[in-house]
Amino acid sequence: MQIAERTVASFHYTLTNDAGEVIDSSAGKSPLTYLHGAGNIVPGLEKEMLGRKTGDTFNVDVAPEEGYGQPNPMLIQVVPKEAFQGVDQLEVGMEFQAQTPQGPLSVAIAKIDGDEVTVDGNHPLAGQTLHFAVEVTDVRDASLEELTHGHAHGAGGHAH
Ligand code: ZN
Repeated sequence: MQIAERTVASFHYTLTNDAGEVIDSSAGKSPLTYLHGAGNIVPGLEKEMLGRKTGDTFNVDVAPEEGYGQPNPMLIQVVPKEAFQGVDQLEVGMEFQAQTPQGPLSVAIAKIDGDEVTVDGNHPLAGQTLHFAVEVTDVRDASLEELTHGHAHGAGGHAH
């Protein structure tokens, strides 16, 4: 069976950056399970999954435009330290939920300079080319419930 619209596929992956450093991997864990065609995974990878079948292994390079996008300078802001009341020790890399007119946004502290804290709401992988090594481990028909929800259920899928 091949990966197509309305199928659920499972795969192992290792994600590396341009420097060859491993950013993320499913090695030693359950494979990732997703509903194809629902935008559950980055577009550049989803495109390459189409037509693959169980046992296929391949590598794909995903440009930022088909990955997590380019960093948006509008999402980088300098705020005063007082904005973080109740936090004992501020550190670079700490993540917070910020309230924006568009809804909650996950931001990370990018820089601390005296009383000024730079926060970045871009995805940590924005602007990066993603290098995936993929092994397809299972392909099956999606259930009606999965199609209605827009994501895969069961092992490696959405838990709710
Ligand atoms: Zn669901």
